[in-house]
Amino acid sequence: MNNLPEIFGSMVFNDKTMREKLPKETYKILRRTIDQGKKLDINIANIVANAMKDWAVEKGVTHFTHWFQPMTGITAEKHDSFISPTDGGNVIMEFSGKELVKGEPDASSFPSGGLRATFEARGYTAWDPSSYAFIKDDTLCIPTVFYSYSGEALDKKTPLMRSMEVLSKQALRILRLFGDTETTVVNTTVGPEQEYFLINKEDYLARKDLVFCGRTLFGAMPPKGQEMEDHYFGTIKPRVSAYMKELDEELWKLGVLAKTKHNEVAPSQHELAPIFTSTNVATDHNQLTMEMMKKVADRHGLACLLHEKPFDGVNGSGKHNNWSLSTNSGVNLLEPGDSPRENAQFLLFLTAVIKAVDEYQDLLRISVASAGNDHRLGANEAPPAIVSMFLGDELSAILDSIVEGKDYQGIAKEEMKVGVHILPRFPKDTTDRNRTSPFAFTGNKFEFRMLGSNFSIAGPNMVLNTIVAEELSQFADVLEQADDFASTLNKLIKKTIKEHKRIIFNGNNYAEEWVKEAEKRGLLNLKTTVDALPHYIEPKNIKLFTKHKIFTESEMYSRYEILLENYCKTLHIEGKTMLDMIKKDIIPAVTAYCKELSETALSKKSLCPQVSCVTEESMVTILSELSAGVFEKTQKLEAALSHTEQISDIQAQAESYRDEVIPAMEALRKDADEIESLVGEKYWPYPTYGKMLFSV
Ligand code: ADP
Ligand code: MG
Repeated sequence: MNNLPEIFGSMVFNDKTMREKLPKETYKILRRTIDQGKKLDINIANIVANAMKDWAVEKGVTHFTHWFQPMTGITAEKHDSFISPTDGGNVIMEFSGKELVKGEPDASSFPSGGLRATFEARGYTAWDPSSYAFIKDDTLCIPTVFYSYSGEALDKKTPLMRSMEVLSKQALRILRLFGDTETTVVNTTVGPEQEYFLINKEDYLARKDLVFCGRTLFGAMPPKGQEMEDHYFGTIKPRVSAYMKELDEELWKLGVLAKTKHNEVAPSQHELAPIFTSTNVATDHNQLTMEMMKKVADRHGLACLLHEKPFDGVNGSGKHNNWSLSTNSGVNLLEPGDSPRENAQFLLFLTAVIKAVDEYQDLLRISVASAGNDHRLGANEAPPAIVSMFLGDELSAILDSIVEGKDYQGIAKEEMKVGVHILPRFPKDTTDRNRTSPFAFTGNKFEFRMLGSNFSIAGPNMVLNTIVAEELSQFADVLEQADDFASTLNKLIKKTIKEHKRIIFNGNNYAEEWVKEAEKRGLLNLKTTVDALPHYIEPKNIKLFTKHKIFTESEMYSRYEILLENYCKTLHIEGKTMLDMIKKDIIPAVTAYCKELSETALSKKSLCPQVSCVTEESMVTILSELSAGVFEKTQKLEAALSHTEQISDIQAQAESYRDEVIPAMEALRKDADEIESLVGEKYWPYPTYGKMLFSV
């Protein structure tokens, strides 16, 4: 492709398009609204809406939609056409400022955790001008936030945007203390690396578990798995390559900075990483990326699996959330600078992150908690459920020498003092070797690695922004009062590192010893979603979110409830799907195979009574025993499900799914998988792991 610069962003009403299509004065006002988060005047909105519509209609667009991100974790849209009737039975294409700025979708069916009683079902969407409008499927999409009649957030974007504002405000206080009078906004930047699986669409459609649950509930391991490690960064097959090319093009048109693509560790697993951008936009772009991944797969006769753990025994998929702080003039605040002053500032931001991660381990864990991700965290393929931080040997040594007041070899022969020394830059290859850490410093940013591939990045980044903002505000409170800035700063950094260095761990996070060591250090090990969620509504967390006006207390309870409900619903569907597959497909398959074996034995005997039928007889015996076991375990699962469904307290219900339903599912699966390995291939009702993982 030689016209990439031309197609990039061609479907986006971006800055370039605005400049072209809007009157100069309107453009200026809109730009100010975007940059400073000012309110948009309705007269200006009318002009913008009209220009947007003309631009879109030229591209064949007939509809518009307010595009929003409710608590379901995916995006929502309701399309309205531009048509407006005129006298004489004709129509013209119209789009008003009011329609651009505000929408009122009937919102009663979106999860609200009791925030919006159904008699007051009104929910509103409001344009977020900091994320550009774009065209998808011949529809003009307006990125919006979604909130209730009384102003409570019903979506993932509202709290994220609130957290960005809070972080900016607190970071600016710190910058001012270091003499920065120019910066007006501090942004968080994010680059999410997205993993996914590609399998044949016909295989996907043939499996109820994939269609209903996004992951396989049964499946015996094929003779070959990922043990040869021959897939990671391997040559990309032509069909996958064609898919990736088209995906890149679609994303570029939407202004998504798709950059890197490669094969991942598991067979049929791949990754796409964009160039980082402002968190708000990165969140929208990641949602679009996931949507496009599925859509483009469909066109290629493929299915894209975004579930965190589609195949048992094979690596699951995650999403690495690379996060940093940047001033509006583009200075990365997590990059050591060239002067002692810049380095003191770097160390202060760094210690704020260290303190934040230590004090709010629980919130970070919760931000990545889901029934699907429970299969990954703690299995030896993804970071464990214990939150800790990797800083690398060099930076850790620097922090040690600050705390202990001793000299640091790499820096100077004398005592390492904040604000006096120049720090080395930390090249990526010395900081990025540890792949097992949940939260790793990689030279000039942090990589939060616990996210599941399916996650919206809104939640984890909202938490990150808020907890770091809280620490910065505490630091600013102290430093603003200081008579001697340098010595107060020194003391503050020393004290903070000393108190929170237990969160730093540079070793192997997959090792059993780490679990014990972490326990000794008093770190949390919240193994499952159900263990983690109650921490959400702990007083310290309610205090945090209400203090910074990210959530009201009732918004927090509603979110806690939605997360629990989500967990329960997921397991309910999985349990039901298992029962259906066993009864309707797997038992009939074993029965048919046993019948075939028995009939073969009988007809062999009738031909020649002396002939050995030991194969058929043994197979029938083994399979009959196994299927009796399956039958019994099916009944146990059924009982566990119906018992659990009757529990009315949602936390208790979730616990019962974890303690009763999941073990029953696992036991059932074990027997069914053994049966699969014994039944003739043509009798088995589903494509096998071998077929799914190795045939694209
Ligand atoms: P990997 O982790 O796979 O080795 P890189 O570290 O090169 O790859 O980059 C991973 C992601 O980190 C990319 O999406 C990149 O854009 C993003 N990234 C780089 N710098 C920053 C930053 N300052 N803020 C946020 N994300 C960043
Ligand atoms: Mg990475």
